[in-house]
Amino acid sequence: MAPENSLPITAHLPNGLSAVEQEIARACKQARRDPASVTLIAVSKTFDAGAITPVIEAGQRVFGENRVQEAKAKWPGLMSAYPGLALHLIGPLQSNKAKDAVALFDAIHSVDRPSICEALAREIASQKRQPQLFVQLNTGEEPQKAGVAPVDADAFIAGCREKYGLEISGLMCIPPVNDAPAPHFALTAKIAARNGLKNLSMGMSADFAVAIQLGATHVRVGSAIFGARAASSLRGA
Ligand SMILES: *Cc1c(COP(=O)(O)O)cnc(C)c1O
Repeated sequence: MAPENSLPITAHLPNGLSAVEQEIARACKQARRDPASVTLIAVSKTFDAGAITPVIEAGQRVFGENRVQEAKAKWPGLMSAYPGLALHLIGPLQSNKAKDAVALFDAIHSVDRPSICEALAREIASQKRQPQLFVQLNTGEEPQKAGVAPVDADAFIAGCREKYGLEISGLMCIPPVNDAPAPHFALTAKIAARNGLKNLSMGMSADFAVAIQLGATHVRVGSAIFGARAASSLRGA
């Protein structure tokens, strides 16, 4: 493209993406990890296609949404316009949305109860689609938060495998907002290791470098890429 044409486009480029990529590279170097072992999930919840398109055009291919309905409204159009995108569900899943979730998402990070396991197993079988599955842990044991308590994790993972025949790929956690995240990431990594799980979905805008230090394979980064979300959308985030 001619430089004079690229100027207006550059003015709209999301400068957050390259800063996040650089910080991931720095954290990987410090942890002596291959940057290819860390997948950046650009969390686009609340942002519309107009805000997402420049991030796709800047080269980002993996995106995260926390609501099935919102993703269903936004992503089919973007996916047909840009082949090769991957979409991850990072928010809570209701059993009655399992059908839509299996149809739309390439990964689901919020497997946390038997009713979801049952609904996912049924949809995976009938749609012959196999999203990558993460069991969500509630490492802070916060009553209002989704996820399996650490003490129940081993039995829950075994149940996913044996009772529902689900292939679990890893664990996900969201540390309590006011806690230091490192102990939560370390606990998640420990539970994953003893259950033979390789993938760790942990780390958000404020703490993804710490998460990479502790083994994160998937970091979920929203505001550092897209900017701050509107206050009303922070609920449940
Ligand atoms: C919104 C959200 C993120 C991204 O949060 P930021 O602080 O904007 O990076 C990550 N994980 C989950 C589960 C979320 O809901």
